[in-house]
Amino acid sequence: MVSIRENVLRVREAIQKAAQGVGRKPDEIRLVAASKTVDVDRIRAAIEAGITIFGENYVQEARKKIEAIEKPVLWHFIGHLQSNKAKYAVKLFEMVQSVDSIGLAEELNRRAERVDRKIKVLVEVNLSGESSKWGVTEEGSVSLICRINELENLRFRGLMTMPPYFDDPEESRPYFVRLWKLGKRVVDEKIHPGPLELSMGMSNDFLVAIQEGATLVRVGTAIFGARPSTDTADGYPDGFERS
Ligand SMILES: *Cc1c(COP(=O)(O)O)cnc(C)c1O
Repeated sequence: MVSIRENVLRVREAIQKAAQGVGRKPDEIRLVAASKTVDVDRIRAAIEAGITIFGENYVQEARKKIEAIEKPVLWHFIGHLQSNKAKYAVKLFEMVQSVDSIGLAEELNRRAERVDRKIKVLVEVNLSGESSKWGVTEEGSVSLICRINELENLRFRGLMTMPPYFDDPEESRPYFVRLWKLGKRVVDEKIHPGPLELSMGMSNDFLVAIQEGATLVRVGTAIFGARPSTDTADGYPDGFERS
């Protein structure tokens, strides 16, 4: 039985160290607990340990948990969102980190308008070109951001990426650098005034991501322990590749 409290403390300490090591303020980095497959009791334990943002991958699963958790925490959607789930997503999530098409952005906007909400969004960028990963190309991201900027009920906040899985987190570094550069370009070219959120880094590579400018890190395993495993092509334990 893992101690969620100890894990959260350890992750927070690691975030602090990584930030200070590169001269960043630790409070520039927000910890998102990736809670797919994690039950309500363990989510409550994480809240007790000070977690305030949870990232969920599946709308149905998230809905049950969000309804059961009465505490005022924030929920981010971090999985692949199908347009036909947008109507639920706008009611449940403060932010959708994984907007990856103009069609999805438009549907989210339409649904957000109906419930009179503004939804913060990140654009998910697929930097590796892996077909198992969702996300737009770097070029595609620019036109997607421009479209989001026109949509009244969406608020563009930044970029998200998920590199291929590497045992050695150093191999993720070039992807994080590229996301940072893309963010800089978005601001330099006045596509958005910034500052932008950069959501990058997971349990095995969040230290490197923080060194390269992450403002949101999505950490699951290092907080909740290993998820129940099923075999998937990219080596992630749980349908993580979101096909
Ligand atoms: C599951 C998940 C995470 C967390 O992964 P860990 O390796 O368990 O920290 C982060 N981001 C996304 C999009 C995920 O689906």
